Amino acid sequence: MSTKIDFKRLDMRWRQGECACGGSDDRYGVYDSRGIYLALGCETCLPDKLKGFREDVLYGPPHEADEPIEPEDDMERVAYGLGDF
Ligand SMILES: [Zn+2]
Repeated sequence: MSTKIDFKRLDMRWRQGECACGGSDDRYGVYDSRGIYLALGCETCLPDKLKGFREDVLYGPPHEADEPIEPEDDMERVAYGLGDF
């Protein structure tokens, strides 16, 4: 069976036109948590099209805001006294 897709958590953007699978008159472009396009389809065929993607790709990492990303070279500059400090 295909993975259950949580449509409410997906980034789905409505696209004009019928879905190629014939399952619905509404189709959507689906984007991952970084805004990268993944697939085009409707609620009938999208679970099958999206089953190859990991959950953190589809919905974003579970603890996205916990670890702020800092450039590592800033830390080195401070450690070696090469910064503007
Ligand atoms: Zn479809």
